[in-house]
Amino acid sequence: MDASADPPVAGLAAGLAAGDRRTLARAITLVESTRPDHRMAARALIAALPPPPRPTLRIGLTGTPGVGKSTFIEAFGMHLVGLGHRVAVLAVDPSSPRTGGAILGDKTRMGTLARHRHAFIRPSPSQAALGGIGPRTRDAVTLAEAAGFDLVLVETVGVGQSETEVAGITDLFLLLLAPGGGDELQGVKRGIMERADLILVNKADGTLVAEADRTRAEYAGALRLIRPRDGDPDGVPEVRCVSARTGAGLAEAWSALARLAAHRRDTGAFARTRDAQAEAALDAALAQALAARVRADPALSAAWPALQADVRAGRLSPEAAAEAALARLRP
Ligand code: GDP
Repeated sequence: MDASADPPVAGLAAGLAAGDRRTLARAITLVESTRPDHRMAARALIAALPPPPRPTLRIGLTGTPGVGKSTFIEAFGMHLVGLGHRVAVLAVDPSSPRTGGAILGDKTRMGTLARHRHAFIRPSPSQAALGGIGPRTRDAVTLAEAAGFDLVLVETVGVGQSETEVAGITDLFLLLLAPGGGDELQGVKRGIMERADLILVNKADGTLVAEADRTRAEYAGALRLIRPRDGDPDGVPEVRCVSARTGAGLAEAWSALARLAAHRRDTGAFARTRDAQAEAALDAALAQALAARVRADPALSAAWPALQADVRAGRLSPEAAAEAALARLRP
């Protein structure tokens, strides 16, 4: 979308309600824009959205580069559209220009799925400023759901913060591993393993089958040592072998996810998690709005350098300086 085109909100909302993929792409571009008039239009659009036509499931997916994420999403996504689902894939790339830019940003990824009329793939935003999980990713999920995509996959590279943040906006969190190597080798942090709802060892095909199974057993063993999670049927995430290349294990992986989602819907945990996520997003939005107001206040911006100096020198704690700033804010 040409950023200056100023799409009418009503037209976008109607296009989304009709499940139009091009409208969805334009709507996501709108919510990602930082232009003040676009921010207002984005807010109006989100307020005007119809509720999702059917229950939705948000799945976070992470794994280090080369583990087979795009191959997996292509195969898994085709399996899911084959079951009658509409699948949206949102790729989030936390890489900065300094680290060489887009890790995920290859336009040829997931070509077959991208062409399917019941799939939508949003490549990662090219601007570093848009990288990482943020309120805009949450908005993009909302837009995709309003457009009738009942399964939303949020893909992120297993580096930096984004892989733990993705668990904060999704219902289920999937970790993809490759055969062999300990977690250090695979660059997987312990915290991610503990947050995963399902761990899949990919590339379990050909000569790698035995090694994939060894890796699966190792992880399953390690996971038995972590604190069991209340409410889930097994208490610890399942570890399974799959092959994105041959399709082996994909149907079973989906059954495992669907079973877990159904169990959490039954216990109420599903709704509680979404509620907590919405409240956390509200807190974050409030903090951001407050900070923006503080920065926009002329008296305060004049006093700001002195407050910063006080905090740098240790004369004021950050909390006390923030209080002082708020106290000066004009009503
Ligand atoms: P990503 O960087 O995590 O998105 O990984 P890609 O999907 O680009 O895959 C990285 C490499 O692993 C490619 O050469 C793929 O062909 C290969 N690959 C992906 N899935 C499988 C699989 O199930 N089996 C095998 N043998 N290779 C795979």
